[in-house]
Amino acid sequence: MLVPNLSHTERLMPTTRPNPTTVNTSAALPGQRLPLAAAQSRGCSSASPGICRVAIVGGGPGGLMTAYLLQKKVNRRLEVVIFEASARLGGKIRSPRFSIESVAYEAGAAEFYDYSPVDEDPLKALIQELGLPLVPLGGNTLCVDNRLITNLDDVEQYYGAKTRATWQRFHQQARGTMTPADFYRSGSDEAWSWPDPPTKSFADFLGESQINELQPLLEWQVHSDLATEPANTNVEYGLQNYLMNDPAYMQLYGIEGGNERLIDELVQRCSAEFRLQQPVKQIRRLASGEVQVDFLADGAPHSQTFDAVIVALPHDALPNLSFPDTQLAAAMQRHFDHHHHPAHYLRMTLLFRSPFWRAAWQESFCMLDHFSGCCLYDESWRTPEPDWGVLGWLLGGQAAVDFADRTDDELIELALDSLPPVMGNGRSHFLEGRVHRWLHAVNALPGGRTPLPIQQRHCPEPTCHDNLWIVGDYLYDSTINGVFDSADYVTDAIAASVHST
Ligand SMILES: Cc1cc2nc3c(=O)[nH]c(=O)nc-3n(C[C@H](O)[C@H](O)[C@H](O)COP(=O)(O)OP(=O)(O)OC[C@H]3O[C@@H](n4cnc5c(N)ncnc54)[C@H](O)[C@@H]3O)c2cc1C
Repeated sequence: MLVPNLSHTERLMPTTRPNPTTVNTSAALPGQRLPLAAAQSRGCSSASPGICRVAIVGGGPGGLMTAYLLQKKVNRRLEVVIFEASARLGGKIRSPRFSIESVAYEAGAAEFYDYSPVDEDPLKALIQELGLPLVPLGGNTLCVDNRLITNLDDVEQYYGAKTRATWQRFHQQARGTMTPADFYRSGSDEAWSWPDPPTKSFADFLGESQINELQPLLEWQVHSDLATEPANTNVEYGLQNYLMNDPAYMQLYGIEGGNERLIDELVQRCSAEFRLQQPVKQIRRLASGEVQVDFLADGAPHSQTFDAVIVALPHDALPNLSFPDTQLAAAMQRHFDHHHHPAHYLRMTLLFRSPFWRAAWQESFCMLDHFSGCCLYDESWRTPEPDWGVLGWLLGGQAAVDFADRTDDELIELALDSLPPVMGNGRSHFLEGRVHRWLHAVNALPGGRTPLPIQQRHCPEPTCHDNLWIVGDYLYDSTINGVFDSADYVTDAIAASVHST
């Protein structure tokens, strides 16, 4: 038998594939226009009779998927404007190239989660619908003290029969606690949740499981999946990040030639207006029921009015928006506080003359015992038959914070130092290194300590701001699958609203 779960990637957390997105169109949901009398009785002015103009704040995967899904679901043409603060679309999906050789690598999100062995996988279906070729990714190795451990026999050889038995027991316990179906439902209103108080941490759970000598190995294994330390997250998220290494729960893939091809395809197919370098600063509802978006363009303030606004930002970008309405401001503050569990990443990616490590190791990723547990990607697998080699180090949690102040050159040196000699001599093949810092960029406790009902997550102030929606991966699981689910939910609700008017 193989080691239960020695594989690892930066997979953050699985998402909810079941359709949490089903929208009950018979009731007045957030985003559906309230009948005039109902709106007035709540002290709001009436909403405009229908949605024609939609603003999407944020041109990352969430914003672009929202625009694409709106276009697919709404049976009439909407005017959609996407405001993006930076000079590029795509957010944390980035596949830049080295300068010495035009070789692509992933600077942000590395992989997509494939739930199709368990149930429907709408994100994979979308990627396939866009005609993008998939590359399966996988790894089953833990590299500790310059030893490659790939199965339970290796565990027994290096750590003894007791550790082997402990690992088997823990794995059975984890599988018995959360089934693939439970995992698949995570993030939905029907999600499995740990029966103990939500304050219990994953570190508490590991402690109670009495895994003793196995604990450091497991913590290294999940560290860059979690992007935080086990004490900072709950049992549910910790278990998910452990179990995602088991192929019965999910599999992994990337897009051949770079994940950013997904962004390019979405942009090409969306008829939205893209406004680059136009950060949104303020959102307010007008007496007419429309929503005014205040933004900067060429450094000067501008305003534009919409029928609905979708804020598709990571949680750490929310404090940059202001909401003059006190009720909305309070609701947005509660929303932010509930989800404020920042987690961190740091990537070092190195280009080599050849994939010199392949004689010793041939997977797309493995786990290193350096940097409190870090994922090492063989980025070269993303391109068939490369004649160069690319390795990527993904540091998570406190290690990412601790090393973020180092210069790029220092970090590249540290990466080279951490390469286990058993894989070969990196220095003699090294060509170029790149560093990407992602502090506060992901969420250590997506959904918050006690997840809110799906509607409340997406529409924080439904009484007078039923046309202000939120899309975010942090509402589900800090992954692209999660942000897709979020976009799917909101676009279902908006489509229902449009079709009902
Ligand atoms: C290093 C790293 C590795 C990851 N690995 C994976 C992985 O392997 N698999 C996975 O599924 N997920 C992974 N993730 C998470 C994944 O990247 C996110 O789930 C995804 O990017 C979320 O998309 P988003 O659109 O919500 O946010 P973002 O990608 O952050 O995009 C938000 C966009 O909004 C823009 N913006 C910010 N403020 C404003 C404003 N005021 N006005 C207008 N625009 C604004 C930003 O410039 C950005 O373009 C990883 C993340 C990181 C950092």
